[in-house]
Amino acid sequence: MDKKHANHCIECSVKQCAHHCGDENYCALNKIRVATHEPDPTETQCVDCESFELGNKYNQIF
Ligand code: SF4
Repeated sequence: MDKKHANHCIECSVKQCAHHCGDENYCALNKIRVATHEPDPTETQCVDCESFELGNKYNQIF
């Protein structure tokens, strides 16, 4: 896997994402988009990273 530059302003544990840094729990993007799928969000589960993109099969092994 290519070494990605970890953006230490965006901590993330979603290793299945194509933008995850793999060995470090950070996002490699300069910025992300966060939104909600709920009409009135009240919990952490209500919000999503809309910059998520499914990684390749290598990433999905984790
Ligand atoms: S795009 Fe979102 S889900 Fe993907 S690594 Fe970055 S913060 Fe995590």
